Amino acid sequence: MVAVSSTVTEGARPDDARRHNRGAVLRRLHVDGPCTRAVLAAELGLNRSTIKAVVDELAESGLVSERLPTQRSGAGRPSLLVLPRAEAAVVLAADIRVDRAAMAVVGLGGEILGRCSWPLRAKTSRPVEVVTRVIESARMLAAELGSPLVAAGVSVPGVIRQEDGLVREAPHLEWTDVPLGEQLTAGLRMPVAVSNDAELGALAEHTRGVATEVSDLVFVAGDVGVGAGVISGGGALRGAGGYLGELGHMVVRPDGAECHCGCRGCWETLVGADALGRALGISRRAGRGQLIAELRELAGDPAAAWDRLADFAGWLELGLINTVNMLAPELVVLGDLLASVPPVILDEVAERVRTRSVVSRAVGHTRVVRSVLGLDAHLVGAAELAFNRVLVSGG
Ligand SMILES: [Zn+2]
Repeated sequence: MVAVSSTVTEGARPDDARRHNRGAVLRRLHVDGPCTRAVLAAELGLNRSTIKAVVDELAESGLVSERLPTQRSGAGRPSLLVLPRAEAAVVLAADIRVDRAAMAVVGLGGEILGRCSWPLRAKTSRPVEVVTRVIESARMLAAELGSPLVAAGVSVPGVIRQEDGLVREAPHLEWTDVPLGEQLTAGLRMPVAVSNDAELGALAEHTRGVATEVSDLVFVAGDVGVGAGVISGGGALRGAGGYLGELGHMVVRPDGAECHCGCRGCWETLVGADALGRALGISRRAGRGQLIAELRELAGDPAAAWDRLADFAGWLELGLINTVNMLAPELVVLGDLLASVPPVILDEVAERVRTRSVVSRAVGHTRVVRSVLGLDAHLVGAAELAFNRVLVSGG
């Protein structure tokens, strides 16, 4: 997912090399936080005079600041600590869900500097209403912050055409062929990138969450619909037309309930929000908050958790075994509602997936964990999607 590599090819023109080095230094500071010039030089394989030139240039542009480190290591002149300046490059992140939209302004370095959200209902979830509200909210957030926004990233629970942000289909929003990227680019007057929610969850966990140390992971977004974002060998997998990762429509129970896709017994009919609600005796209209509250309460009562969620756990396990055998991830991250499944259930499911999937038995270490970013995972991913474009050019 990282758009900048740490080496410059031989024969690159000086301008290209300088832009590349600026991008690499900014990206290092943005993702991993402040560090000294000496650490930058060592990590990026650049000599100290090159680092000094790049950092001086970035400081002149206002993108970084420098100060003496509070703790000195060793004798001699201390290496200056380089810090990204959050307000120097601020992006907009938007997370459109089936029942709620959330937005945040995120500064260089990843800090959330402001946010807002609103519920979506049948009328307010039409594309025109969502686009208008996103544009209005962006103006409000930028005004509150007092900083201009440089780019935007948007998460949608659907299949997206990467080039222009066309939402091919988002079934639970009932959107088809919505030119969201074009409309928001025109309305916000800045570059806008749109991506699938699960793909952005994977990007978020890979950049700032539980999956920073792995290159093969699957993020399972489990909400009303269930989908997956896949990073394999460090890069996103998208498949034909962006349709890769439709795990929710993996048929696991051929005689099961009808799914909106036309098949029967799709995985999302057995582990999605509706299935969880049925298992917990909560009506469809209750909303995510009540489901999460109920799941948290069950976390303190293992016997009741198994009593209510044994079937659900079985279907979760079955789908995850198929997923692991198909995609061979080192790590499966459960996001959204699935991140709230009680630990007593999740730990058992993780253990069964580890021992029963062929890939895990062979490789020996497939882990299933919950997202640490929780309901912010899509927003964080959307911000990183926007930053990927900003940082590749060195700010
Ligand atoms: Zn289906």
